[in-house]
Amino acid sequence: MKKSIKDLGDIKGKRALVRVDINVPLDENNNVSDDTRIRAIIPTVNYLCEKGAKVILMAHLGRPKGEVKPEFSLEPVAKHLAKVLNKSVLFVKSLVGQGAEKELIGLNEGQVALLENIRFYKAEEAKDDDMTFAQELAQLGDFYVNDAFGAAHRNHTSTAKLAKILKPAVSGLLMEKELRCLGSALDNPEHPFTAIVGGAKVSTKIGVLENLIDKVDNLIIGGGMAYTFVKANGGKIGNSICEDDQLETAKAIEKKAKEKNVNLVLAQDVLVTNDFSGNGENKVVDVNNIPDGFEGVDAGPKTQEAFSEIIEKSKTILMNGPVGAFENPAFANGTKAVLEAVVRATKKGAVSVIGGGDSVSAAKKFANAEDFTHVSTGGGASLEFIEGKILPGVDALDD
Ligand code: AMP
Repeated sequence: MKKSIKDLGDIKGKRALVRVDINVPLDENNNVSDDTRIRAIIPTVNYLCEKGAKVILMAHLGRPKGEVKPEFSLEPVAKHLAKVLNKSVLFVKSLVGQGAEKELIGLNEGQVALLENIRFYKAEEAKDDDMTFAQELAQLGDFYVNDAFGAAHRNHTSTAKLAKILKPAVSGLLMEKELRCLGSALDNPEHPFTAIVGGAKVSTKIGVLENLIDKVDNLIIGGGMAYTFVKANGGKIGNSICEDDQLETAKAIEKKAKEKNVNLVLAQDVLVTNDFSGNGENKVVDVNNIPDGFEGVDAGPKTQEAFSEIIEKSKTILMNGPVGAFENPAFANGTKAVLEAVVRATKKGAVSVIGGGDSVSAAKKFANAEDFTHVSTGGGASLEFIEGKILPGVDALDD
């Protein structure tokens, strides 16, 4: 177990140096167009303020690649954060070593500051960094907090290396929730445990499938990646997306599922189209008999029913990836039906965790985040966590 801010003693008057993930999208007027990530860090910021700490936030925005680029400034994000917090946020324009320290002198107990984009420094992402930058940053705080689960798979200065020299180094409340929810689903699930793995490619989900197969009772494979499995089994997949170099992987996963008594579930019927834009002919066919010129784009009605039945009988559900090309409303019914089944199961007491990029946007589109036990804020980080990998940003925190 990693220590969290709740395990700290008296922090009144101390400077909390906090890595957060507020890499939010900005519109053409530089306004924050989706503030989910900002809202997610509020409990940590408020907690530290209430305990009387001076809160100094570090974050990145986009990929300025070690250069000062005004279009990647966090200033608009600081303004939005102030609105959400309903209190002023000191935006520190100067870089560390060039005046930031001075700007921070006036920061009082319970106040919040945000440093300029941490990726304006080359040393942030440098692999061969000699820790000089970490030492410079460490001067700004009396203890370190990592609440940036979404960046925890990166071995960068502010996400991991700093934690080795600025002590105590603890998790924030969001990080703690991510680790608890994803961790207990994977390590201590109530059975039956069902994983729904979807998305475009098998190759990006091999690690996920291999780690999950040792843990789950049911493994539902949907979306574009399922056609590689169908083809490996001798099915006719028409023009559906398929990775021919992964056919053996698919066979090996099916074999392992059999050995482990895991119920590997593929589609029975699928919605196919002859025009991915949605303006062509769409029809439902048997998954093993997709006509040439057509590609599978969504789970069919029989499949939706079969998937839903399994999901509703489950006590733990982990979803990673959509079961269709849901961005197009014409191909969204399957993903919507699966998510609705997850919501019903959750209402009946199941633990449900939505992990990773596209399933999170689908979950928000077709349900409310509150309808699930946990919707992960980390795309790449939750993928690596589900693969069973050690995240450097978590590993570096105090036990
Ligand atoms: P991933 O990033 O690997 O989780 O893949 C997510 C993407 O897979 C989403 O953008 C979906 O639209 C896409 N996807 C899901 N099913 C299909 C399919 N049958 N054909 C093409 N793309 C799909």
